[in-house]
Amino acid sequence: MNLFSLIKGHATFAHGGVHPLEHKEETAGLAIRRLPFAPKLVVPLSQHKGAPAKPIVKVGEEVVRGEPIAESDGHVSVPMHAPATGRVVAIDLWTTAEGPKAPAIVIDVYDAASQQILYEEEVDIMRQAPDEIVRLVKDAGLVGLGGAAFPSHVKMLPPAGKMIHTLIVNGCECEPYLTCDHRVMLEHTDALIRGIRIAMRATGARRALIGVEDNKMDAVRTISERLPENDTIEVKAVEAKYPQGAEKMLIESLLGQQIPEGGLPVDLGVAVYNVGTLAQMGELLPRGRGLIERVVTVSGAGVARPGNYLVPIGTPLGFLLKAAGVDAEANKVILGGPMMGMTVASLDVPITKGVSGVVANAVGNSDQDERRVYPCIKCSRCVEACPMRLNPSMLAQLAKKREYECMESDFHLNQCFECGCCAYVCPSNIPLTQYFRIAKAINRERPALAS
Ligand code: SF4
Ligand code: SF4
Repeated sequence: MNLFSLIKGHATFAHGGVHPLEHKEETAGLAIRRLPFAPKLVVPLSQHKGAPAKPIVKVGEEVVRGEPIAESDGHVSVPMHAPATGRVVAIDLWTTAEGPKAPAIVIDVYDAASQQILYEEEVDIMRQAPDEIVRLVKDAGLVGLGGAAFPSHVKMLPPAGKMIHTLIVNGCECEPYLTCDHRVMLEHTDALIRGIRIAMRATGARRALIGVEDNKMDAVRTISERLPENDTIEVKAVEAKYPQGAEKMLIESLLGQQIPEGGLPVDLGVAVYNVGTLAQMGELLPRGRGLIERVVTVSGAGVARPGNYLVPIGTPLGFLLKAAGVDAEANKVILGGPMMGMTVASLDVPITKGVSGVVANAVGNSDQDERRVYPCIKCSRCVEACPMRLNPSMLAQLAKKREYECMESDFHLNQCFECGCCAYVCPSNIPLTQYFRIAKAINRERPALAS
């Protein structure tokens, strides 16, 4: 155990951040439990950043739990696997959390099937060459389970001239209500450590630092106890402060370095992975399996049976809510946490690889509440709260005047990662993050509009 890191801990990023009420006590002490299979599972072909996967099954075909059902379409893309044994009944457009419908494979689950995973092949993973591990990570359909859903294998391949020397492992889980990563660290510790060693071998990283917020010291202790003395993997407690789990913030907290504007962690020789992703890596790769389920926190004032559920990918939100005792009509439901999550309009939306939580009736970001908006009183609280040292008040004024280009060129709009701290502290309830999200979307379209 590395006692030094336990004592030293509690590092944090230098500027901004907020301390919203955590609301984690309801679920943090509850062990992960398996959700039964819904009668119908919906597997969207685009659950990740990058190109959608291409179906390799046809309507009417029987599929076995764990079997690949869609292949990746390019480097930044991952395959999909059948989350249950059943029959493909449609490959069609389906409602997504983001709004527009998108192609998905719909599977009618066989009632009588044992749902045993037969589609697997044992691999002596630590004996594989790094590029072979990268291929296996891609084949497993692994993406960032912290919410970003960026294909995991892509981060293992630094661009020419760059190298990865440090793996940063994100166990912060700074969003209120969410505790799925906390439970994974406690219950799947060996798989997590195995996953870290696999990722280190694939990337060539010489050391790994696991950052865990200091409201989860039981996880810090549990992981530390499983690590040998002077190991290349080290656990460090960091201050519980939102958005500690943002990769830019965590890198600053653990390494004291800031990613240059417009840069990536790899520019500092770093790759960042969420604990849930690495635990899945440690679980799936040695067995040659694909990603077909994930842990999802269901919490909030409107939940009768809160907890951390092991949910088959593609489970309709309505099915999960019913199992957790949520009256979806009476409660506002957010996918993700209340600070960065999104309100969902339909219960048909499936749980995808990037969904870490479902919160019903959260108390949190003013963006999520329908509160009355008042004029800006120039109090500068948003400036003090912004971890990226931006001026949200000024950005909002420009957004109102539709000066979107100026927001980007003169006020670093693209440095905003929509953490919601500014909107959270604003006494005038100005939906600042929404303004910035819209402004960025308009700027992204601009070259297309001009051409
Ligand atoms: S949402 Fe953007 S502007 Fe607001 S605090 Fe976060 S990074 Fe700063
Ligand atoms: S916190 Fe709200 S009211 Fe205060 S300066 Fe920022 S935008 Fe204006």
